Amino acid sequence: MTDIDGNAVAAEIRSGVADCVDTLTDAGVEPALATVLMSDDPASETYVSMKQNDCEEVGMRGIHVDVDDDAPAEELYDTIDELNDDPEVHGILVQLPVPDHVDTQRVLRAIDPAKDVDGFHPENVGRLVGGNARFKPCTPHGIQRLLAAADVDPEGKEAVVVGRSDIVGKPIANLLFGRGEGGNATTTVCHSRTENLAEHTRRADIVVAAAGVPEMITADMVSEGATVIDVGINRVERDGESTLVGDVDYDDVAGKAGAITPVPGGVGPMTRAMLLYNTVKAASEQHDVDIDL
Ligand code: NDP
Repeated sequence: MTDIDGNAVAAEIRSGVADCVDTLTDAGVEPALATVLMSDDPASETYVSMKQNDCEEVGMRGIHVDVDDDAPAEELYDTIDELNDDPEVHGILVQLPVPDHVDTQRVLRAIDPAKDVDGFHPENVGRLVGGNARFKPCTPHGIQRLLAAADVDPEGKEAVVVGRSDIVGKPIANLLFGRGEGGNATTTVCHSRTENLAEHTRRADIVVAAAGVPEMITADMVSEGATVIDVGINRVERDGESTLVGDVDYDDVAGKAGAITPVPGGVGPMTRAMLLYNTVKAASEQHDVDIDL
């Protein structure tokens, strides 16, 4: 069994991004990512500060805007408009979820598609589905890169995705069955209404678990030698302590899988690295500067 080391692959991507930052800076462009937070949720605050630290690590400019979580929704839309209009901002990420009085879909539509480094604007979702992605969403793109790093070519293989969310399940399914490198798999998408889930996952050469259910994928649900990608991040209590586990029962499945991603240290670091990747891509396209991504 091979452990797919997301930390190592993400470090390689960050190093490539840092080189692109240098190229852009030499051309007079200082790539910049703006994060916007309208929440006092500690987890969201942590995610945003990690993304800002990542920017610093690759030499990219990070800008952060806090919007009071009880401010009128208009304040968030106005903030996004200002960032859209600022030529020195290349990527915009609004940390989700936003408060209930804010319309998430309107937020996603408000971001200039050329700066939408999360890839959630309907135009960018449409382009992804059409096989002409501008920005691949970070988690699915990270999964594709992990498969490539593990020398797993999805072409012709059976892939089973557990989960159909807009941010993980649907886009990774699209990438896996889509034409081109890292795609061409025969792909099944399972969800909470799927009957006999194990019959589907057992057929798979590649299982992507993105259900948000702690350790639901067990050894009897995967075939010998399968590649298992665990997207889940679930906080659970174990022996009186809070700990992170994935959607895959790692200890159980590791003995049977051909390759598996651990949690933490698998998909998580890749999601953050691909955000940096999308931001330098955005900067290069907005300023027409060639970079070697
Ligand atoms: P959502 O809750 O939006 O979606 C979960 C999906 O799983 C839904 O489609 C749901 O089905 C399906 N599902 C739930 N229970 C079952 C079940 N018992 N059997 C089969 N399918 C089931 O979650 P996300 O996609 O946002 O996230 C999934 C997990 O990945 C979470 O643990 C999240 O924390 C993690 N995550 C990790 C990231 C990373 O960087 N590593 C990034 C993003 C998310 P239905 O549609 O029918 O409700």
